[in-house]
Amino acid sequence: MNLRKTVCEELLKGIKSSCAIPSQPEFDGVTKEDSPECPSCLCAIPSQPEFDDVLVWGFAYPISMNPTQLLQDLVRIPSVNPMGRAVSGSIYFEGRMTEYLENYFRNLGVRYQRQPVTLGRDNILAWYQGSGSCTYMFEVHQDTVPIEGMTIDPFGAELRDGKVWGRGACDIKGGMAAMLHAFTRLVKENPKGAASVILACTVDEECTFLGVQELAKQNWGVDYTIVAEPTECNIVDSHKGVAGWSIRTEGRACHASNPSLGVNAVYRMAKLVSVLEEYAAILPQRSTDPRLGSATISVGEIHGGVSPNTVPDQCVIQIDRRFLPHETCNQVQQDLENFLKNDPRIDFPFICDPIGKACPPFEPRHSKEITRRLGIAIDSVRGSHQVGSVPYGTDASTLSQAGWPVVVFGPGDIAQAHTKDEWVETSQLDLAAEILYQLATRQGDR
Ligand SMILES: [Zn+2]
Repeated sequence: MNLRKTVCEELLKGIKSSCAIPSQPEFDGVTKEDSPECPSCLCAIPSQPEFDDVLVWGFAYPISMNPTQLLQDLVRIPSVNPMGRAVSGSIYFEGRMTEYLENYFRNLGVRYQRQPVTLGRDNILAWYQGSGSCTYMFEVHQDTVPIEGMTIDPFGAELRDGKVWGRGACDIKGGMAAMLHAFTRLVKENPKGAASVILACTVDEECTFLGVQELAKQNWGVDYTIVAEPTECNIVDSHKGVAGWSIRTEGRACHASNPSLGVNAVYRMAKLVSVLEEYAAILPQRSTDPRLGSATISVGEIHGGVSPNTVPDQCVIQIDRRFLPHETCNQVQQDLENFLKNDPRIDFPFICDPIGKACPPFEPRHSKEITRRLGIAIDSVRGSHQVGSVPYGTDASTLSQAGWPVVVFGPGDIAQAHTKDEWVETSQLDLAAEILYQLATRQGDR
């Protein structure tokens, strides 16, 4: 039985956030008889707020309508980015997450499309066609960082102390749950004059940004884009760029019982790393930006040798360099190599290679209007917002470089991202979902 209901005024004004009132009878599995009444507006509250039935081709599918429940579903589906390592196992890559999203969109009855990025790794996009003239894209990455060293069940999705715990809860499955919830509400309620929304779920944000690079190649007819990352529901319009390099030293292997016959590549690398540490200490004076702060460099990995009784003939380090809008990736690599080569301690050759494509710096070049619109939506729900920059890289810079008006926004605090006991507060999920819905439905702001 279906029952068409009117739109709850309080919901539209952002006074409350949990009163889902479907206005499209084909998406409505709630009957008035089953439902208690909302005390403040007398609309019907679905008796099972976590689930509604969606009818697609005569079949009913459960579609989660609670951001917390949605997030728990998402955390339970591993989508670990191997971060360039030669690892294998069912937890790696985004395939199972993409499949979940495909089923979700199919069951919701919306148009969706996979966009192949690389072998077995697809972006997936879904469309809500509103009757308004504006089109937003909600962009969110499907992958998470690895789980080594975690002290909680990475895929347990435990709900405790008002938080959901697990890998990706904060970065950025929490943001995905908020976007999915807002998108689903738009589809189910189909409010008059709402903007169209494309929900784009990309791959490989945590390593080499392959998904967003593929996404940016096409014109999707989008006016404004929101990229999900943990910003505590504030607006981020700028960040540093991220470049990565590997540096390799070579030597000559021999038996460790007579090391003078060989050349030890690890000793060479030790000297090089010492010089790099000095470079890292002076870099903040060499390169700074009034808005974004100083450039930084960090050695994150070192690998060398094959056994204790062999003099190693190779040693490799991996370096992370955060760069500023006035710098280019080639310039900063050249600067580093010159610094090393000009030091008398580096009296041996080394090879420096970029790791993947750099994430460019993100500047507020095209984002004035989307910052204004999103600011109004945040204020309508929470009362205030901040606009600022962050030190970490996001998919937003690639889209901005392609000329897209884009800002970063999402639930949770970056301090909880990538941690051994990652979590996000459920109140942040609800807040973000409501703000995104308000952004798409507010009529007076355009
Ligand atoms: Zn992220």
